[in-house]
Amino acid sequence: MFSGCSTSGDAGACVPARAAVINRVDSAPAAGAPAKPGRKIKVNPLRCKSESCDGLLAFEETDEGFLMGNMILLADEVEGRRFFPCPKCRGRNLVDEVEHGGRTRVRVFGFEPDE
Ligand SMILES: [Zn+2]
Repeated sequence: MFSGCSTSGDAGACVPARAAVINRVDSAPAAGAPAKPGRKIKVNPLRCKSESCDGLLAFEETDEGFLMGNMILLADEVEGRRFFPCPKCRGRNLVDEVEHGGRTRVRVFGFEPDE
């Protein structure tokens, strides 16, 4: 259940990993501070995630790997899976929604070649 717990056979002695993280944050509040608001976001053209293709898609992604705008609305959907088809190799660049900084963002998380 708790990741990082190495105790075996005695669950009562196990400290959940999350509690340890909270204690560390309390004692060092400035460590690993998040990026300043208003920071200029670097945007790159979205490229096909196939290493052998590298085709250009008509979308942009930030240097954090998130797409600009709510592009999930433009994704094709087959059997509940959403993706952008690559215009070059026709493979599927799989996308999903993730929570990041209190906002729902869209990212490409995988690739499937054309069948
Ligand atoms: Zn491609």
